[in-house]
Amino acid sequence: MVDTQRRFFLRSKRRVNLQALPWVKDVANFTDLCTRCGKCQSACQESIIVAGDGGFPTVDFKKGECTFCYDCASACPENLFNAEENAPWHQAITITETCLAQNAVECRSCADACDTRAIQFRMTLGSVAQPQITTTSCTGCGACISPCPVSAISMEQRV
Ligand code: SF4
Ligand code: SF4
Ligand code: SF4
Repeated sequence: MVDTQRRFFLRSKRRVNLQALPWVKDVANFTDLCTRCGKCQSACQESIIVAGDGGFPTVDFKKGECTFCYDCASACPENLFNAEENAPWHQAITITETCLAQNAVECRSCADACDTRAIQFRMTLGSVAQPQITTTSCTGCGACISPCPVSAISMEQRV
């Protein structure tokens, strides 16, 4: 008997998500000012900040979600972060074709993880319920990313 869930898991591509920290002022020039001191990484209570390429800090949503505590920004000795009253970032998720539901396998793990109900499942004729994203309700927290059994969720920048 074919284990469909495992088959899709093996097929799925592992996504590398080099994600900027929240409230970073100038993502494009971040590496010019960041000294790689690691203070933001130590400050993050969710332990989602890791050393990425070149040792520069990045958020790894495979390790968890951003709770928007602002501790990383507060810990940074450089002038790299916007004030807390600004939006932390402009991003929202997309769900790719490896999604189990899109391949007729029942799964709602992402919606279960989303506090803002930005992912809702709608019944469809001839298949299982399908995820629909309300981008304007997505905070970009990343909480839905690690629960997805096939790594089908990626984060996209919004302009
Ligand atoms: S805002 Fe808080 S939870 Fe989010 S990355 Fe910074 S320290 Fe971690
Ligand atoms: S605390 Fe600031 S300077 Fe230090 S690694 Fe983090 S972002 Fe870079
Ligand atoms: S990133 Fe956060 S707010 Fe957006 S859909 Fe996922 S869990 Fe919901």
